[in-house]
Amino acid sequence: MSWKAILTTNAKRDYYEVLGVSRTVTEAELKSAYRKLALQLHPDRNPNNPDAEEKFKEVSEAYAVLADSEKRSLYDRFGHAGVGGGFSAGGGFDSTVFQDFGDIFGEFFGDVFGAGGSGRRRSRVQRGADLREDLTLEFEEAVFGTETRVTVRRHEACGECQGSGAAPGKGPTTCRSCAGRGQVRYQQGFFSIARACPACQGTGSVITDPCAKCKGEGRVLRQRTVDAKIPAGVEDGTRIRFAGSGEAGQFGGPAGDLYVVLHVKEHPFFAREGNDLHCVVPISVTQAAIGAEIGVPTLEGEHTLKVPDGTQPGTTFRIRNKGVPLLNGHGKGDLYVEVRVQIPSKLNKRQRELLQELESTTKVDNQPQLRSLIGKVKDIFG
Ligand SMILES: [Zn+2]
Ligand SMILES: [Zn+2]
Repeated sequence: MSWKAILTTNAKRDYYEVLGVSRTVTEAELKSAYRKLALQLHPDRNPNNPDAEEKFKEVSEAYAVLADSEKRSLYDRFGHAGVGGGFSAGGGFDSTVFQDFGDIFGEFFGDVFGAGGSGRRRSRVQRGADLREDLTLEFEEAVFGTETRVTVRRHEACGECQGSGAAPGKGPTTCRSCAGRGQVRYQQGFFSIARACPACQGTGSVITDPCAKCKGEGRVLRQRTVDAKIPAGVEDGTRIRFAGSGEAGQFGGPAGDLYVVLHVKEHPFFAREGNDLHCVVPISVTQAAIGAEIGVPTLEGEHTLKVPDGTQPGTTFRIRNKGVPLLNGHGKGDLYVEVRVQIPSKLNKRQRELLQELESTTKVDNQPQLRSLIGKVKDIFG
């Protein structure tokens, strides 16, 4: 070979350096170093990464040479030139070396991606999808809980083929494209890449005689009414999961879940805040002034509330444990009652006289306050 050939090929990186090993590396160490790098750089794991692809080629090339004792000794003596002018020049390597690569990859990608002992087949079995349904409840239904029904349209296992998708007596057969392996290999440049078999979607088997009822799907669409027990204390936006009531799994897979999203109607009298209830109750001027016992509505019937004398408008009373049950079943919220003092707008003669009499007794009392207020206003406006 000419000195020129040596010069150009020497521009390539040293194969030992590429694999990060010493020149005295054993076969086993070499293989392990290569596996580690190839795993990192394999195109399956680095899609659209030209840099990784380039490095992967470099590593593969280095290993192809060093793993072959004859080539390795040639390389040790003559460098790149000794093994045929380099990979990128496109010559010098016999294809059997690369055939071996496929097997190495198969072996360890199988391990890494957890396909287990059954080879690289993807399971046909699939969990069913989750479903969501909306349900509107009356205010009281949310507070006390209820038993109702939810209508869902979902896929269920086909009764005709018991979910197998194959016509009765004609089970799935081994895929011919991949001979049941679930994977097909193809050469891309110098290396072999494994892909899920397109004919069987990687499952390794195909249904040649599909069930007439489900057309090989293994599932059929059904409308179902699902019993839905709603616990006490739910609120607007609560999501309840009904395990296993979603879409049926495929080919024997578990069913998905059904999520029921609750919407709660407003109440004409009570407003809800978490587990507490709020309401507004009218009282008369005299009840506010001299105190009274008034009946206030709760969700469980009337409750007697003692309004003390001198109660100011807007005062809020708390009645414990008359709110909404906690969803966990322990305890209840409270009821807050705000009193709104009603000023009478129509008075008969007698009432007017009484109020006038009341006014004559209180006039003196509030005059000093009023004078002081007028004084302050005068100060402000100078
Ligand atoms: Zn069927
Ligand atoms: Zn196949």
